[in-house]
Formats: sequence, C-alpha cells, structure tokens
Amino acid sequence: MKIKLLKRVRPANPDLLLPGWASRRNRNSGRPRVTVITSALTFLLLAMSGSFAADSAPAAQRPLKVLYVTCGGYHDYAAQAPYLTTNISQLVNATFDVKVGLEGLSDPRFAEAYDAVFYNVCEEKAPDQLLDNAMQTARNGKPTVMMHCSIHAFRNSPKIKEWETFCGLRSKVHDPYGPFTISKVDQSSPITKFLPQDWKTAGDELYQTIAIDPQSHQLLRVKSPVDGRQHIVCWTSQFGQGRVFCTTLGHDMKTCATPEFRQLLANGLLWACGKLGPDGTPAAGYSAARTRL
Ligand SMILES: [Zn+2]
Repeated sequence: MKIKLLKRVRPANPDLLLPGWASRRNRNSGRPRVTVITSALTFLLLAMSGSFAADSAPAAQRPLKVLYVTCGGYHDYAAQAPYLTTNISQLVNATFDVKVGLEGLSDPRFAEAYDAVFYNVCEEKAPDQLLDNAMQTARNGKPTVMMHCSIHAFRNSPKIKEWETFCGLRSKVHDPYGPFTISKVDQSSPITKFLPQDWKTAGDELYQTIAIDPQSHQLLRVKSPVDGRQHIVCWTSQFGQGRVFCTTLGHDMKTCATPEFRQLLANGLLWACGKLGPDGTPAAGYSAARTRL
C-alpha cells in the first residue's frame, strides 16, 4: 500500500535572520570625535567588567525557540516533557515552551513566534481545523519534529491520510514492548553519523512500517525480534516547504534516558531548522547552552 503524496516543493531557506551587525559596523564614519572616545571608554569598561566573551568564543546566536506540544494516553508525557526539553536544551542552543493539549492549535498562527514545533502526542482524534492548522503551518515552512505516538495519532480523524503524508510513513500497530537493536540505513547522514552501526534499546515499542513515502529519507531501521521484518524507526521528509524529522522510538524512559536518543532528537531538531552541519555538528552558535546570548 502506497501513501498518496502531496505535491512537494523545494524548501525555503530555513536560516534565521540574525541581528544586523554587519550593517551597523560601518555607521561610525563621520561621527564626532567625542563619540568615538566615549565608545572606546565604554568598550574598556565593559572589557574590564568581563561583559565581553573571549575572542575565541563561538558567535552567540539567539536560541531556537521550540513549541513542544504534548497530550494523550498510554504514555507518561508529564515526565517526558521536562526531561526531554531540559536535556535537548543542554545539547543545543534551544529553548522550549511546553503546551499540554491541542487547544492552542485552534489559532492558525499558533507557531508564529516559534522556530519549530515538536509533537509528542497520542490522541486518536482531533477537530479537523486543529489538524489543518498544524499541517498548514508545516507546509508553509515551519520545521517539525515528530516523536513516537505522533506517528500513530489521529487514526480516527477524517484527516488521517493527510496526517500520514505529513509524517511521511504509515504505521498502525507495534510489536510487543521489548528490547531491540537499531541499525543505520544511511551511514553518512549528519543526523545519525554519531551513532554506532548497531545501537540497542533496553525496551521500546517497535512500530511496524506499513508504507513509507518514497520521498522520505530513511535513517534508522530495526529487524523485528518477533518476526524478522524490517521497520523504519527514524526518517526525514519534506512537507510543502517544511522539513520534518520523525522517530517512532520513545515509548517510555527506557529509550528516552539513553544519550543516543537525546542526541538523535537534538540533531533532528537542528536539521529541521537548517542548523546542523554536514559533519553532524551544530552550526556556529547552536551547539549548547553556554553559547547563548
Ligand atoms: Zn507508546
């Protein structure tokens, strides 16, 4: 069974606009001499007070602002939200606003103030307008991260086919909870380059792949310990102008508590925002909290 594809277009440049330092630099010509002296004195005082970072420090960037949407059954989302957002913030230059419930999606501009939206939800249905707003936001170019049950969500909604296209993969059931080994499909992806070839989780739900969008880029797969079938558990896709990073892993803390999974989410977020370098390291200024403004 194949997922019906929506028309896909090349993404808009996802780079964020930064403060216009370059344009400000050259405005001093023609200033009165007293202003130059005052500026020099200010510099000296600031330097003495330690307000300037060392020359070798990476250029600080505004943190990525991420909207983390979470709700639904079967999972301890109250524990996952603070754990994941805190840990990802310690790996990359990002801050999170956690919103419990889908009500916020009723506003078509719900993500306007954010650089990315992170879905960790497990609702079986939602009003059509809310899902339309979520998907249109991504189509318009907002980077998206999808985790675990977000790929199984909204199965009783008339919008489910479209949501599956948004995810870039169709899955409806999972193997019984248990340990399994995760293998890399793409050896050179910057998102998963840091992982060993085989990475083991002590326990998770292996979502069975029914169909994957041919345009989805497969990153990680698992051979089912139950029946030997291969299932894709991490991939990227493009939805309209928006980049989407997805993983079906993360049912509970067994996988979430591994450093590999936390780094995977951090890298996926950076990639979706266009801030992950080809070598798998963050773009300058996005590597960790210490580089924040
Ligand atoms: Zn689950």
